[in-house]
Formats: sequence, C-alpha cells, structure tokens
Amino acid sequence: MSGHKWQTEAARILHTPLVDLLGDKASKALAVLGLTTVDDLMHHVPRRYVSGTDATDLSLIKVGQYVAIVARVTDLKQYILPVAEKGRLECVLTDGRNGIRATFFGRRHMLEYWSAQLSTGVRGIFVGKVGEFQRHPQMSHPDFVMLDAGGDIVARFREKLVNKEAHQAMARQVTRSGLVGIYPATAKLPTWQVGECADIVLGWLAGLTDTLPESIVADEGLPSLISAFEAIHRPQDMSHVEAGLARLKFEEALSLQLTMAYRRASRNKQAAPKITQRAGGLLEAFDKLVPFELTAGQKAVAGDIAQDMASGTPMQRLLQGEVGSGKTVVALRAMLAAVDAGYQAVLLAPTEVLAAQHTDTITAWLGDLVAGGQLGASGLSTKLVTLTGSMSAIARRNALDAIASGEAGLVIGTHALLYERVKFANLGLAVIDEQHRFGVEQRAMLTNRSEIVPHVLVMTATPIPRSVAMTVFGDLEVSTLTELPAGRADVTTTVVALQDHPAWLGRAWQRCLEEVAAGRQVFIVTPRIDAKDDDPGDPENPAPELSASAVELAMSLASGPLQGIRLGLLHGRLPAATKTAVMARFVAGETDALICTSVIEVGVDVANASMMIVLDADRFGISQLHQLRGRIGRGSHQGVCLLVTASMPDSKAMGRLQAVASTRDGFKLAEYDLTARREGDVLGAQQSGGRSTLRLLRALDDAQLISHARDVAEKVVAVDPDCTDPRLADLVAGVEGQGEWLDRS
Ligand code: ADP
Ligand code: MG
Repeated sequence: MSGHKWQTEAARILHTPLVDLLGDKASKALAVLGLTTVDDLMHHVPRRYVSGTDATDLSLIKVGQYVAIVARVTDLKQYILPVAEKGRLECVLTDGRNGIRATFFGRRHMLEYWSAQLSTGVRGIFVGKVGEFQRHPQMSHPDFVMLDAGGDIVARFREKLVNKEAHQAMARQVTRSGLVGIYPATAKLPTWQVGECADIVLGWLAGLTDTLPESIVADEGLPSLISAFEAIHRPQDMSHVEAGLARLKFEEALSLQLTMAYRRASRNKQAAPKITQRAGGLLEAFDKLVPFELTAGQKAVAGDIAQDMASGTPMQRLLQGEVGSGKTVVALRAMLAAVDAGYQAVLLAPTEVLAAQHTDTITAWLGDLVAGGQLGASGLSTKLVTLTGSMSAIARRNALDAIASGEAGLVIGTHALLYERVKFANLGLAVIDEQHRFGVEQRAMLTNRSEIVPHVLVMTATPIPRSVAMTVFGDLEVSTLTELPAGRADVTTTVVALQDHPAWLGRAWQRCLEEVAAGRQVFIVTPRIDAKDDDPGDPENPAPELSASAVELAMSLASGPLQGIRLGLLHGRLPAATKTAVMARFVAGETDALICTSVIEVGVDVANASMMIVLDADRFGISQLHQLRGRIGRGSHQGVCLLVTASMPDSKAMGRLQAVASTRDGFKLAEYDLTARREGDVLGAQQSGGRSTLRLLRALDDAQLISHARDVAEKVVAVDPDCTDPRLADLVAGVEGQGEWLDRS
C-alpha cells in the first residue's frame, strides 16, 4: 500500500499509522496482532462481549480459552509452606451454579496481598487463560478487579493495585455502561489494553466523515462509519454490534465488487478480435471428426464462448468443470474458431506432462488438419507447435519462429510460456488450463504482448462456489460444466485406516494385483519424492508416516507385495524427457502400476486406469485428493480409490478423508473445505505465503451480501463510469493496494 495517495481526508485519517497516535510500545504490541493502521484497529472486532453487571455462565468455559468472567469468590484458602515462606492461594469462582478454581502461587506477602483483595462473597472480573488441573478447568494468576454491588470497582482494591495501567483500563471498561469487548489479544497486550487503544482511537476519530457516499449508506439502511466503529467497540447491546458489523461487511463487499466492476468496465472498452464461426473451416471439419457427441453442458458453454468471442470485446471467462467433464474439447473448438478467423490460439498447461498429453490428444483428434506445411496436408490445415522448457535449442528456435511468423495457428506450452519472450504474430485466444490462481497480472502479460487484446479462457477443475468466484474472480464471467459425459464408471472411495486395521495395507496391495490381473492399470500416489523431503504434514495432527516416499516405495514394492507386475516411477524431479517417456509407457499400457507424486494431479487421462491407492492420504488437501481421484474412472471400468492413512480416528485429517470418501461432488467438497479453512487458503494464498485479505467477510456465509454488493457496484459504475467520486476511488485503491492476493489468486 506504500506510496498510495488517498483522495479523501477520511481515507488519509483511517490509514494513519497507529504509532502516531499510541506511541511505540502499544503500536509494537498491536503489530503482533497484525494491526498497524487506525483502520486495522477499528476492524479488530472483539471475539465476544461481557457485561460488568451480568454473571457469566461458567459451564460454557473451555480449557485453553482466554476468558474474562464475572463471578463471585468462594472457598478462599491459603496454603503456606512454613519453611519456605511461600505457598498458594486458592478460591472457587462461581456463577451460582458452576465453579472454576483460581490459583495464585507466591511468597507469603503476595498471597496476603491477593487474599486481602479477593474477599469471599464478593464479585469480580477474572481474566486469563483457562488451564486444567486434575481434569478440572482452572485459572492460574488471573487478572482481576473486584466489583461492588453497583458494578463499580471496590475502593480498597483500587488503592492497592500493582499493575495500575491494565487494571485501570479493565476497570474503566467494565464500569462503563453497556458491553465490554473481549478482543483477540496477546499475553503482552491483554484485551483491556486493546480496548483502551480502541477507545483512544475512537475519541480521535470523532467527526470522521463517511467513506461511502451518503446515498448508499441511506439506501442500505446502514449506520455511518463512525457509528459502526462505536457500535463495535463500545456497544450498548448486541443489536448495535450487529448493525456495526453489517456496515463494515457491506463496505468490504462493496469495495471488492466495485474494483471488479471497474475492471470489467475498462475491459469492455478494449477491442478484441471478432471471431465468428466460418463455414467450411477447421472447426467444422473437426466437429465431423470428433468421436463423440458433445454433452448438453458442453454445447451450452461452447455457446457462451462463441458469443464472447464474437462480441468484439475481450472474453475473460472462467470455465470450471469437474475432473473429466470434458473441458479440453470445448477449449479446442474455441481455438479452432480463432484459427478459422485468421488468428493464433495458445493452450497453456501447468506441467510438461500435461502439455505433452494435450499435444497427443489434439494431434490424434485433428490428424491431417494439423499437418500444416507437410506434404499431402489438407488444404485446411494449420500447424500445431508445442513449446516446452526441455526442448533442444534448435527445436525451440524453430518453434518460436513458427509462432512469430504466424505459421503456427495452434500453440501448446506450459504456463512458463507466459513469462518468456514469446512473440505471437496475432494471438486471438489464450486458454489457460487447470489454473485457478491466474490473475490480472498474468492475463496482462499475455495481452500486453500484441496490439490486439486476445480473448482469455481460464479452465479449472477446482470447483469454486459461486460466492467465492464472485469475490475472487469477480471480473471473470463463469461457466460451469456439471455433468460428466455418459458412460463414465463409478468410483468407490474407501479410507484405509491403518490405526484401526493395520492388516488392510496388505489387502490393498492384493487388490492392486487383482486389478492388474484383470487387465487394468493402477496409480499409486505418495506425497514425497524421497525420504529426505521435508514435509510438515498437518502440524496439528501429526500422523505417523508410512514408508511412503516414491523412490523407496518403488523399490520395496518391486521386491515385495507387487513383485512380478510392471511398475513405473514418476515424480517432479525427473528430467522432463524421462517424465514424458514414463507417462507415455503408462498411457500405452506398457506399465501396470505407476508410482507417482501429485504430478499426475491434473489433467492426465488414462481410460484404462481403474484404481488409485493414495498413501499418507492425510498429507493431501481435500481438493487435491478430489483431483487425484479424478484420474480414475475415466473409462468404462468401475473405479476404486483407496485413501491409506495412519491418522488417528478422531483427527481433523481423518474427517477430511471421510468427506472425500463420502461424495464425488466437487462443489460439496469445496464447501466442506471452506467451512474448515478460510477462502484465501483454499484459493492459494497459503501457498503464496500471503494471508487472506478478506477481513470480516466470509465468502460462503456472506454469499447473499456479496451478490447484493455486486448489484450495487454495477449501478454505481453505470452512474460514474470514470470513477470521479474520490470516495469510490479510495475504496477501489484500498482493494488494489492489497492486490497481491486478488491478482495472484
Ligand atoms: P477435463 O475436463 O478434466 O479436462 P478432459 O477434457 O480431459 O476432461 O476429458 C476427459 C475425457 O472425456 C477425455 O478422454 C475426452 O476425450 C472425453 N470426452 C470429452 N467430452 C466427451 C463427450 N461429450 N462424450 C464422451 N467423452 C467425452
Ligand atoms: Mg483437463
């Protein structure tokens, strides 16, 4: 966000560094919580609220929580070891029904100091972490203040305070009317001091003008920004909190949607090739050759794409479809239409294996039609060029020449092609396969390279719930292929839980042999290439690992349970040529079982492969497993997927595996995944090391709000297409400033 010039006074004020207001010490402590500006602190919403005059329900307290409870002191007891002059003080804090023990350790004079404060029968507020002692919850050394009948701090208590700052803050907040926010806090900076900082900032913000145009605030029936901040940090009751949160969430959703809407608007001002289907062209010839009938879904998507490409403005479409739903053929038809119209089309794949497979499939489908330049080629034909990182220098130069001259109508390559200096003669369409982390930046790289702006089609098999797509891909149009082509076999998935059934692993290898004996092929997937690979797994649920590195596994299986069948080994560290050869042998049926890492995750298509055994399956995420599983059951043979794990029966990891086993519906799994993780993680922010920048918004829970904000944004952009309102400009700048995530995700 550095260097950005805010256009409004309100935005400048909100982006004031906290250090300017609160000084070094407090601002450093707040930075630990990720809060560096006034705006950050105002969006730091309390976890919950307590009231200084209501009692707390102690039955709800859980071990491990950081809590503030209001309770009465009973059973005060002091135990002193006479020799050492130290000991402990214990009491039970009660809400009238349930109790929790509080314990203090120390020298005699400290124990006496505390017991003078903690008078039996008196109510106080106790703050700290709930630990466990002899299987009962207990707080050691809670921070506390004692309250009199009216909810004020007991005077005697106030005089003797040691840590005045924090206690006074606690006292001020508790004795104030209304609710007290209990903030996510740290040991160095307890909630009371976070609250104190919020108070200071709120006071300083008095009179802040709104960041949203008044008409929108009024239409939406929302509180002003400053009242929303007050409602969240100093609420009278929970309805205030809710109204305040609603306002902040709406502003967040609107900012995102405005950003997307302005992007769409500016894209619609650009000119792109007008591509309409040509009678007697390559596309028509291909449609006659293709060995199957398109599904209704494929036809509908093809219609969307044809319309986009004929419109004269650049297509930016996301095609999402289950693994095996037949996206490639849809993409190829669009590419052929582009070639028919005199343009080039490029297909980018994430890996060399996949690029090679696309080349093979497409060459097989098109036959003579891509024999361009060769003797006896059909008059219609064009040239298909594949560009990969592993080509020889000469082959590479030839390929680049054919691309630059326009001789190659169809180009296939890896995503890396984006980052290289490849010059197209006249690129009309770029298809990006199996990519859901493909953003504005990458699209720009393609488009900046030629005068005309090409159409872009992004394809992904990772199902993205609509609201998430709208949040993250709001500037893409989305098409979805839900049905699989007819005749697809079922895949049954079973979790092989070795903690409960150690013998099942042997049974799994047995199944594998049976499958091979029946003429089928098997994928054996493992998370690591060799034993040294540093794989943290799931830090919360470390499961004992199986001996499951690909290299070791290949050796032990070959001389052990899978002796006698033909094994292949495929992983990312093999030279590209080896990978391609290994894959080719598997595709040709020359190997029975392929031991591999997740390099086979995307796109690979082997109709005869009917079984997959995933070892240490808990090391994979839900969507990864779903995609892996999509490699089987592509032909007519019933598929079997075994998820082998040594995870504990009740662990989160086991829950994920059960979810994958329970359904083949990728959308259901994506939603399951989202409820457990934040959308940024699901969409890749985790891999890129960034944090999700959704603040209060949750793409699933707030789906309706997001969709409403999109409508509002559309109207706003229609009225002010050039973004002349400085408030709108600042809202958009706020999103673009965190653009890392939006662009890369
Ligand atoms: P994905 O969407 O996962 O990329 P592919 O495009 O690789 O799926 O298609 C999977 C398989 O289905 C391929 O073998 C493809 O030829 C085949 N296929 C595609 N469309 C149809 C269809 N309409 N009918 C029958 N098979 C189809
Ligand atoms: Mg594919």
